[in-house]
Order: sequence, then structure tokens, then C-alpha cells
Amino acid sequence: MTRYIDVQDLARLVNRKGLPTCLLEMAEYIRQDYLRWPVFEKCARVANHSADGVIELMPISDASRYAFKYVNGHPKNTRHGLPTVMAFGALASVDTGAPLLLSEMTLTTAIRTAATSALAARYLAREDSRSMALIGNGSQSEFQAIAFNALLGIDEIRLYDIDPAASAKLVANLANRPGLKLSIASSVAEAVRGADIVTTVTADKACATILTPEMIEPGMHLNAVGGDCPGKTELHRAIVERARVIVEYEPQSRVEGEIQQMPADSPVTEFWRVVAGEAKGREHGEQVTLFDSVGFALEDYSALRYVLDTAQALDIGKDIGLVPVLEDPKDLYGLLQPR
Ligand code: NAD
Repeated sequence: MTRYIDVQDLARLVNRKGLPTCLLEMAEYIRQDYLRWPVFEKCARVANHSADGVIELMPISDASRYAFKYVNGHPKNTRHGLPTVMAFGALASVDTGAPLLLSEMTLTTAIRTAATSALAARYLAREDSRSMALIGNGSQSEFQAIAFNALLGIDEIRLYDIDPAASAKLVANLANRPGLKLSIASSVAEAVRGADIVTTVTADKACATILTPEMIEPGMHLNAVGGDCPGKTELHRAIVERARVIVEYEPQSRVEGEIQQMPADSPVTEFWRVVAGEAKGREHGEQVTLFDSVGFALEDYSALRYVLDTAQALDIGKDIGLVPVLEDPKDLYGLLQPR
């Protein structure tokens, strides 16, 4: 049987655990899997582009598990009452191909993205970081705020969105979180000024320049999450040129990340090398570091592992007959016979 986790199940799972605990635990699953990087069979995701968006398939496997995620990115969706990003995915046994888990991944993606962002910032941000600018206050934003609070102790967050209602929603959603001081800025520049960390998580199918060079101060860590498709970036090229750039999986990031603006041989470091201690994260206090995040299948593999382990431990979800259980494995036709 296959464990099935729908959106309500996932919400129940997160509420039973508490979101900060989920973020911390999922970040540890992600870290453990990045440490095993060489054993994974990897590829850049398969993206089908259209005028207003993209639909992507993200597969990965190791010797025991195979995972894939279906995810879209349609920045205009919110005008029609749909989220920009929606996702579901599966985890299967490599030995037999049998699906072990079929799960919602919209909430899961927000949690895994925020967990990955904060995990990367642990290696890249200055240790004394306490404040963050959070540009783009849509679906992903609360998860980013809570992850940076839970994993790094970021307690002052300055918000900016071109849609004031989005920032107001974020403030209302997190109003009762102890230890988080939120304020709304009147511009990107005002939000970014003096921040230790800058997270950009906007949605627009365009080469945008949310951050421009004069906003960037020595020692800042930039967590660029929203530029994740060809022709969809958030940073001015000069910022990328000068920063120490960390990517997830270079072949995918060259096409989709902020580094699509750069020559194909511009220096980048893959995140797994930093996690493994093979490469430095931040090299000195004055350095500007950039986590050029596009989202990689390994993080979804970790997230699905976490969801399955936790759902089983808490007895959440139900087992469904997604593939046949046959008395005679060669008698598929027998399923059609009346019983
Ligand atoms: P969303 O549509 O819910 O929110 C995006 C917000 O950005 C909106 O509130 C919008 O008003 C705001 N925005 C757009 N242009 C802006 C600008 N110029 N300045 C300030 N704010 C602006 O989308 P979401 O689900 O929060 O996703 C945000 C982005 O993150 C998307 O681009 C998505 O593709 C990307 N994403 C990346 C990863 C990853 O792993 N890197 C994972 C999930 C989502």
C-alpha cells in the first residue's frame, strides 16, 4: 500500500509538531542528504514553459529511494484565486519501483525551501546576524521568516512587497509569534538598509532588479529564492558578479538561477561542498555571500522522507491502493473480473 498525505493531513502533521520543529527537523534531513551528494543520481529538472508560467518535474534517486515532484510556477495565478506555486510528489522503492508515499507538496515545498534557505545561511551569513529584509510577502514568506528565526535566531525582520495587503497578511499571520519583531518598509531600499540578511522571494516572470548594487552593504548575506526560471531573476547582474555565489546543482542553476546572467564559466560553488567541509561558506566578514536558490530535487527527496517518517510516527494519512495488489502478479486482468 501507498501512504497518501493530502493537504489537510500535512497541515495536521505540521500543527502536531509545530512549524519551527518541522523546519529544524527537515533542515537536518536535507543536511544529511547533502552530505551523501555523490551517491545520488541527479539531473536538472524537466521544465515545460508557457507564456505565463512553467510546469516542472524533479526526479532524483539513490540506491534505495526514488523521488519526484511535480511543481508549477505561475506568478499571475493569484489574480485568478490560485497560488503561484502548487506541488505534489512521490517517494518509491528503488528495488521494486513500488510507490511508498504520494503526498501534497505545496506546503511541503514552502517548508523545505525555507529550511534550505536557513540551512544555507548557517554556513554563509555572518554569525552575528540578527536582522533580515524579506522582499516578497506571498505564500513562501511566513515560512522563510520562521525558518530564519528558528535556525539562526533572526528576530528583526523588515518587510516589503509591492502589494501592501501581502505584507499586512504576513504581519497578521505572525503577530503572535514571540521573539519576532516585524516592521513594514516603504521601499526595498528602506527594508534592506542595515540588514544582515536579505531574502528575495518575489514572483514575476521577468528579469527583475529587485536588488540593485547601491543597496548592498559589506558582509550581507543574500538569499535569492524567487529567480528560479529562465528569464526570471531578481538581482542586478553587478551584485552577482561581486558576490561569493553558492548554488545547489550547477547544471540546473546555470539555466534557472541568478547566474543565468553570467558567463557559463563564472565562479560558483555547489552547496554540498560547503556542507561537506570541502569548500568554505563565508570567507571573511566583509564578503557578500549569495545563495542563488532555485530549488533542487534532493531537497524534495529529503522532504518526502521526512513526511513519510513523521506521518508513520504520528499515524497521519491513509494507505491507498495506488498500484494493484495481486494474488497472482501476472494476473492483472483478474482485477477486472467481478468478485
Ligand atoms: P506569491 O505569488 O505567493 O508571492 C510573491 C509575492 O511577490 C507577491 O506578494 C507579489 O506581490 C510580490 N512581488 C512581485 N514583484 C515584486 C517586486 N518587484 N517587489 C516586491 N514584491 C514583489 O509566490 P510565492 O509562492 O511566495 O513564491 C515566491 C517566489 O519564490 C516565486 O517566484 C517562486 O517561483 C519562488 N520559489 C522558489 C523556490 C526555490 O526553491 N528557490 C521554492 C518555492 C518558490
